[in-house]
Order: sequence, then structure tokens, then C-alpha cells
Amino acid sequence: MTKKFVIFGNPVAHSKSPQMQNAGLKYINFDGVYEKHHLEDGNTIKEVFLQNGYSGANITVPHKEFAFANADIVKGIAKEIEAVNTYVIEEGKVVAYNTDAPGFLKAIESFGKVQNVLLLGAGGTAKAISLALKEKNIKVTVLNRSEGKLDFFKNHNITSYSWENFKPEIYDLVVNSTSAGLKDDYLPAPKEIIEPILKNASFTFDCIYGKVTPFLALASKNNCQIKDGEDMLLYQGVLAFELFTNTKADKMVVEAMRKGLKQG
Ligand code: NDP
Repeated sequence: MTKKFVIFGNPVAHSKSPQMQNAGLKYINFDGVYEKHHLEDGNTIKEVFLQNGYSGANITVPHKEFAFANADIVKGIAKEIEAVNTYVIEEGKVVAYNTDAPGFLKAIESFGKVQNVLLLGAGGTAKAISLALKEKNIKVTVLNRSEGKLDFFKNHNITSYSWENFKPEIYDLVVNSTSAGLKDDYLPAPKEIIEPILKNASFTFDCIYGKVTPFLALASKNNCQIKDGEDMLLYQGVLAFELFTNTKADKMVVEAMRKGLKQG
């Protein structure tokens, strides 16, 4: 029987996950189809997932925390992050994972060894990235516009600052996990704060994909190597694909999924 997979979000129309996942399914001749589902109320996520007979799901903004709270079982680093982006049925139970965190680690492998990271932003993505880095014993410092979201990081012994009280060090990698630059021309922190840091950094990564954000443009001007979020999106998808299909995605599958992602 054809298996059904889905991405839940609100909004979800813009999501490129279906074209990426369907390209992977087609490449391995898997009898499955991956669709989009606009979900209004995150609290209904498990019910909707089961009622529709889905075998697996991805979850995007703003439902990752609801998906965590509603799962039967949460596995891996997701337990600490308290947000999940993947559901799979395992032995009749709804099992939840966070593949954003390992997807990010895979995406920064191309930089080689990094030791000290400055992470801009303190939202859901920053939680996943900071814990992924911490688990790998990579030093991470969080810098956010406001103080409000910093408690999570303090509770996990991650040094965190707001713009007002920031005490900079030298970092080899600077990551933008804010939404500044997504639909506007803002930098993720004031230029007076960021530019001196970029002058001393080697690598920069922006979770936003498909464009050179003001952050990456400034980084490039200051001779940093730059990378956008496409690989993070790809690898979180590949890891979910492996869970959905119970297969190991080789290089050819990954490239088929990348091609799918880049369509249209
Ligand atoms: P959240 O809404 O949870 O967090 C947004 C963060 O951005 C907050 O820390 C907020 O600061 C900060 N912020 C927003 N606007 C500005 C601004 N103008 N200047 C400075 N800081 C700002 O978002 P997410 O963590 O879910 O997503 C963050 C980004 O990561 C998005 O752009 C998203 O598209 C991208 N993303 C990419 C993925 C990929 O696979 N490539 C996966 C997931 C996300 P404050 O607390 O002060 O409000």
C-alpha cells in the first residue's frame, strides 16, 4: 500500500519539503507520496497525523513545540530541545525526533574543525543548534536582541547575552539563526557589534537559504567564508527521509533530494 508522508505547518504553502522528499522517494522507487498539510491548531497534530493514516511527518513553524508535547515517545537530542520536526510510526506509537540539530552539524562539516561559535538569535532554531554544538563539545555563546528568550540557554549552562550586556570574544564561526534578513534588509545585530567580530572570524553560516542576506554580505566583505541554510534544510530532510523509509540515503539519494529542493 502506498505510504503517505506530510509536512505540517502554518503557513505551509511555501514549503519545499514535498519536492525534496518526493524526489528522494522516486529515486529509490519507494511506494510513497509526501504532501503538505496546513494545520491551524498545533494541539491537534497527533490526532490529525493518525486520522489521515500518515506513516511519517515533518513539522515546521509554529508547531514544533506542540508536536513535542503530543508525541508518544521522544527520542535523542529532541528531549532536551523540547521541540521536534519529525514524526514516525514505530510499533504503533508516534515517535518524535529533531533532525534540525544533526542537519545543522552536517551542514557545517564543510568548514572543517570549529571550536568557538557565536550564535545570533534565541528562537527554536537556536535551541536546536546550541544543544547540537554543546553535545559535540564545541563552545557556543548565544547573542540575542532581547533578554526574554535567554532562560533556556542559561538553564543549559550556555553563555548567553542580549545586545546590551554582550562581552565579545574571538569566534571562529558566527551563525545567524534570527529571522533578520529573511523578508527585510536588517542585520541580526547592530553593525557596531557584528563587524568587529566578523573581522576576527573565519566562517559564517546563515540559516536563511536561497539568498545572500545582509549578514552574509557583511561577512563576505570582512573576508569570512560564507554559507547559506540550504544544506541544513537538505540534511534535516535527508535524516527524516531515512527514518520514513527505513533506508540509508547514499550520496546519489542526497543529490536527488538536493535537485528536488532546487526545482522551481
Ligand atoms: P523564532 O521566531 O523562534 O526566533 C526568531 C529569533 O530571531 C529571535 O531570537 C528574535 O529575537 C530574532 N529576531 C527576529 N527579528 C530580528 C531582527 N530584526 N533583529 C534581530 N533579531 C531578530 O524563529 P526560528 O528559530 O524558528 O527561525 C529562525 C530562522 O531560521 C528563520 O529565518 C528560519 O527561516 C530559519 N530556519 C532555517 C532552517 C533551515 O533548515 N535552513 C530550519 C529552521 C529555521 P527576539 O527574541 O528579540 O524577538
